[in-house]
Amino acid sequence: MTTTEEQQLEEIHNFQGKYPKQLWHLFMVEMWERFCFYGMRGVLALFMADQLMGLGLSEKDSNLKYGAIQAFVYAFTFIGGIFADKILGFKKSLVFGGLVMIAGNLLIGINPHDFFYYGISLTIIGTGFFKPNISSMVGELYAEGDPRRDAGFSLFYSGINIGALLGGIVCVYLGKNYGWNYAFLAAAAVMVIGVIFFLSIRKELGPIGNSPINHLEAPKRKSKEFMVYVGALICIPLIFIMINNTKYTDLFMFIVGPLAVLYYIFQLTKIESSAGKQKFIAAFIMIAFSILFFAIFEQAGGSLALFANSNVTPSLFGLSLDPNIVNNSANSLYVIIFAPLLGLVWLWMAKRKTEPNTVIKFGLSFLILAGAYYIFYALRFFANEQGMTSLEMFALAYFVVTIAELCLSPIGLSMVTKLSPKHLAGMMMGLWFLASAYGQYLAGILGAGMSDPSPDASLTDKLMAYTDGYQQLAIYSLAAGILLVVISPLIRKLMHEVK
Ligand code: GLN
Repeated sequence: MTTTEEQQLEEIHNFQGKYPKQLWHLFMVEMWERFCFYGMRGVLALFMADQLMGLGLSEKDSNLKYGAIQAFVYAFTFIGGIFADKILGFKKSLVFGGLVMIAGNLLIGINPHDFFYYGISLTIIGTGFFKPNISSMVGELYAEGDPRRDAGFSLFYSGINIGALLGGIVCVYLGKNYGWNYAFLAAAAVMVIGVIFFLSIRKELGPIGNSPINHLEAPKRKSKEFMVYVGALICIPLIFIMINNTKYTDLFMFIVGPLAVLYYIFQLTKIESSAGKQKFIAAFIMIAFSILFFAIFEQAGGSLALFANSNVTPSLFGLSLDPNIVNNSANSLYVIIFAPLLGLVWLWMAKRKTEPNTVIKFGLSFLILAGAYYIFYALRFFANEQGMTSLEMFALAYFVVTIAELCLSPIGLSMVTKLSPKHLAGMMMGLWFLASAYGQYLAGILGAGMSDPSPDASLTDKLMAYTDGYQQLAIYSLAAGILLVVISPLIRKLMHEVK
């Protein structure tokens, strides 16, 4: 880093007030990206049922494919993170990822029927290069040990959810009322805004996110970068094959996780300082816990959606309301409101030196999640004779789920940036999202095991089957929470000075 760059970085780190101004800008960029991503995701399942079932795809296959696509999207963040660390830097990765996402959505937008799988393959690659690297840049806005970091990530998380909520609403609306291609075109247009906006603010980030090989001569550097771009695009046919044949998803998931762990171990052995090694191990343990969190949390897209559809009364405090709307948007709405508030609580506690450390926050998150799933379980006591239960209680459970999420998901992003050595920050952020890919994958398996298989089951049978399942999940979550609190002194030791 040159002296001017060092000065720029110092200036960024020495910001006054609660948040660095660059955080607001990254917040906006990520908001547009999540709009595009969740917009695509929102229409995906509906679109697949509508269009692809016409091509002979059964509902079960369409669900499996949906799950595979979700898992792949997050799995490729690991690769995106590694190439950002080694060659591109976060800024270039982000722009490349954004452009590929635009191409993917445009392709589907132009001809949803013929280009669907190609477009999705592009989106998977694009998200892989975009998603982990923007979070890593947020981490770099803060100096080591700055107690304002968790609050910053909480605010950033609110931006994620504004995008998610708007994307889901706008794209589904366009898709349903005007045609699927408009939904994908809207996602592409929004991503264009995101990329242009990022290009306009990237200078404010100073050296943050610059390529690690900037010191190389231009031709050498450019040829390396070019190879990454070409390599990424070469993966497209491979992804295309894998999402076309869902039987490869299991294989992929069995292979990519162990490979990632081996790569992690390889990097661990190369870290010289023992404190650095221990922090790296602590990050890994926490990331492993997050798999279970997301497996339970992600019931939202699976079993809870079905449960809302079949067993929840469509009325909230007397007003008629589709329980699936609550299922799909309550979480985002709560995050948008409560993430910044919880961030302020962390800042307030930090000032008084009472802020819980990261491990305790994770432990709390599991305990709160257990509480939420006990509420989902308790919905059976609020049901009428037909087996229809209360939407108010269902919405309350979502509120509790959200508080649990806020103690883990943004805190996890922050934790990864605190514990990873600088040259491995992207890879570790990728590992964090890879863990959530496994969470999604496990969520599907857990959810499938929960639904009542008999086709002529009564609503009351279904209610009992689902709520039994939620009680099980509450128990897993409670056990994980207690375990984390018990082992927290040990993990804290591994974290050294990091809180
Ligand atoms: N909902 C968050 C996001 O979209 C977290 C996703 C995750 O980690 N699986 O960024």
